[in-house]
Amino acid sequence: MKKGIKRKSISKRIRFEVFKRDKFTCQYCGKKAPDVILEVDHIHPKSKGGADGILNFTTSCYECNRGKSNIQLDDQSALQKQRKQMEEVQERREQIELMFKWQESLTDLQKDTLTQVVEYIDNKIGKFSLNENGKRTIEKLINKFNLQDILEAIDISAKKYLKYDVSDNLIKDSVEDFIKKIGGILNIKNRPPIDQKLAYIKGICRNRFNFWDHKKGSIILNEYVIALKNYGYTEQQIINDLEKEMEPQAKQADNWSEWRSLVEGWTNDIRKWEKN
Ligand SMILES: [Zn+2]
Repeated sequence: MKKGIKRKSISKRIRFEVFKRDKFTCQYCGKKAPDVILEVDHIHPKSKGGADGILNFTTSCYECNRGKSNIQLDDQSALQKQRKQMEEVQERREQIELMFKWQESLTDLQKDTLTQVVEYIDNKIGKFSLNENGKRTIEKLINKFNLQDILEAIDISAKKYLKYDVSDNLIKDSVEDFIKKIGGILNIKNRPPIDQKLAYIKGICRNRFNFWDHKKGSIILNEYVIALKNYGYTEQQIINDLEKEMEPQAKQADNWSEWRSLVEGWTNDIRKWEKN
């Protein structure tokens, strides 16, 4: 019961901060509001010199805060029980309110992020600006990816797809391209490292060669990676190999057929290693 009194001495604002930080979850048993009533608990007891700072507070459910057995030991009269139930109802109501406030602040944060990302894009496209459709696309990306990656993808896409006419005006089609490609760039960035490397290498080939068969090229590269795997290369060794052997090759080969016969030759060589 003593702890119950202590809880009330902690201000509402502090309690809200502690609950928010702990995501409205009891830090001892993991139960969440509103399934349980939450309280703020001192990590180092106040009686033993524990401070009243937020770092010394943690979120605890009613039961954990008392130690489950204590509840049974409380000999309560009917009246006391009733009063306690009423307090609990009040407490639950307050906590649900706080949770709504917390949810709203998260939504606000997301809206802020969207505004900022839209501004970041608008700054790159001069007299154009994102329409509602474009904003919705960006909102979806914000839900799925982290901000750092999104901004980086915007930079990459802008560099690659924004085009200017002779009088240095942005071409409208290129602006549309730029926005459309952001999601694709993010997806590449979030693929497994080997796939990312392969996508990068294929991008180099596609840009450099007059002819590039994307499907066939992917198969050839996959066979190469599988051969390395079968030989016993680790993921990191494969990535290193792609970087040191395959990437320079993509940058040096003159055309598709030269590239193709070279890589297929390498794959065959590796398959012979296996047989030794
Ligand atoms: Zn608990």
